[in-house]
This record gives sequence, C-alpha cells and structure tokens, in this order.
Amino acid sequence: MKNAFIYHEDFNKYDLGTDHPLIGDKPRNSLEYLKANGLLSHFDVLTPTSASYDDLLRAHTPEYLKHVRYLSINGGYLSADTPAPKGIFEVASLAAGGSMLAADKLFDGYHLTVNPLGGFHHACRASSSGFCFFNDIAVAIEYLRHKRKIKRFLIIDLDVHHGNGTQDIYFEDPSVLNISMHQDGRTLYPGTGDVDAIGRGPGEGYTVNLPLPPGTASASYLKAFHEIIPPLVMQFSPEVIIYQSGVDTHHADPLADLNLPLQTYYMLATQVAALSRSTCSRLAVLFGGGYNSESCIQAYSNIVSGLLGEKTFLSEPEPTDADPSAVDTMLSDLKMRLADYWEL
Ligand SMILES: [Zn+2]
Repeated sequence: MKNAFIYHEDFNKYDLGTDHPLIGDKPRNSLEYLKANGLLSHFDVLTPTSASYDDLLRAHTPEYLKHVRYLSINGGYLSADTPAPKGIFEVASLAAGGSMLAADKLFDGYHLTVNPLGGFHHACRASSSGFCFFNDIAVAIEYLRHKRKIKRFLIIDLDVHHGNGTQDIYFEDPSVLNISMHQDGRTLYPGTGDVDAIGRGPGEGYTVNLPLPPGTASASYLKAFHEIIPPLVMQFSPEVIIYQSGVDTHHADPLADLNLPLQTYYMLATQVAALSRSTCSRLAVLFGGGYNSESCIQAYSNIVSGLLGEKTFLSEPEPTDADPSAVDTMLSDLKMRLADYWEL
C-alpha cells in the first residue's frame, strides 16, 4: 500500500498578510522538514488541481461562493479576523482540490494521504471566518459521495478550535460521524462545540464534541481521546477517515491555551493510524491550524512519524495538567448524552 503527500508550490500563496498569525509558507516548511528528516521518502508527492465551481457548490451556497469571488477580485475582509487578499478564491480552491485528491487517492491504491494545506473547518455552508474560505473537508467528502458513492465518513478533528463549519454542514447528516476535540468554546473562538451539541433530526448522535478546559495537558487529553473516540469509530465502521490534525493544541501556540507537548502528537497519530487499520485502511490527514512556526513543524513531523509507525519522535518536558477533574466531569456528561446512540 502506498502513501501520498499532496503538494503544490502555490499552497504557499495562502497568505493573509505579514501581520496575520497564519503562517503562509507552512506547507513548504513542512515538506522541507519532512524531507530533511527522511520521512518524505515514504510518500509519493502528488500535485493537485483546483476544486471546480461545481465541487465547491456541493459544500457551499452559490451566494457565498459569489461573495468570496467578489472579495477575491476586489480585496477586503471575509470577517474581522480573516482578510481576503486578491486571488484568494483560486488559492482556496487549490487547497480544497488538495483535500479532494487526498480523499480520492484512498480509493486508488493509497491507504494514507496528507494535505498540508487542509482542514479549514470554520467554513460554514453560507458564511465563514477563522482564516477559512472553503470547507475542504466537506468538499472532499461530497466529492467521494458523488464520484465513489461512499456512504460512511468519519471526521476526527483534533484542532484546538471547534470545527463549527463542518458541524454546520453535517449537523443533520447521519452519514458523517463528526468528532471534534477542542478547547472549551467558553474560553476560545469560535465559542461553539459544547457537549450538548450532538446533531439534529436524523443526525442526532453523529456530532460529538469534547470541549477541554484551558491548560489541559497530555494525560487528560489522551484519556478523553481513548474513552470516546476508539469505541465510536469501531461501532460506526467508516469507509474513510479524515483526520484534521491541527497542532494549535501545543503549549507554545500563541492563539490558544491547551498544554500538549510534542510527543503527544506522535501518540495521537499512532492511535488514529491504528483505528484506520482496524476499520477501512483509508486515512486522509489534513494539517489544520498551528501558529508557532517552530513547534508546528516539529509537531507535524511527529504526526507523520506516528502515522508511518516510525520508532523515533521528538519529545519535550510534560507541561502540567491544569484541571483533570473538569475533564472527568465533561466525559461523564458526554457519555450520558451519547448513551442513546453508542455503547461507551
Ligand atoms: Zn485551530
């Protein structure tokens, strides 16, 4: 079985300005770091093409696409935190095309694919913010549904921010089990993702949120992961897994307050890869957020190392776990809310 790393030099044009926290050349830096550490040799490097208008339209409204097109021609702001530089429509379409290729190749001989410019989970169907233009996760899922007739999709979103856009798109859809672990929305953008948001109508039970208090470190984080995610994944039995592997959970990240050290990313990636092998053996990894350039690249390297089952990874001293009892309380609350839908 083969692995693919999706890359285009134009990925590095996803740049919202020098005074903006988003790191524009993160895809190139990640690629170079993986190459220097011998990890890239495990991958075929594949070049994506842009998502078409019809591809984007499966996840977004025509009015929203028209709005982004207007901003892309004229410049402006998508939201207060998200400047829209000229040409962003094309760059964001390429990012979404990257996630489509990452997903599609899983049905064409590959079992692990990585898109370093993917995971724009704040893009809702008809609006967006949080540095996101197009929800490439949903664009990729809808492409697979359309082209490959796939019926069961799993999202494991470990970015520090709640994936509110993906939740908006799939809240009533039982074909997508959308699990998000994030810093509690009462303390961080976008403010959503409480345990009581579990989906609506036919989608009830298929949205799962694990909000964590500021200062959560490895032990509590991994405990929450292990108690909820593996049993749900095994019961759902997905045909494909999309892993939003944001590393803004790192203790040095400037935008959020979780306390994960580098080694935790290796452990998480090892676990997600094992879940893929136990179910569908189809895992697309989208790098997601991360705003401290040095620790980001090291964390992504640990993720790739864990995905590949390599023995070596970077580690650092364990930060303290601020409030393990709050995590326990959240877990028992969540289990109670999910009891009608899942064995936990
Ligand atoms: Zn994030």
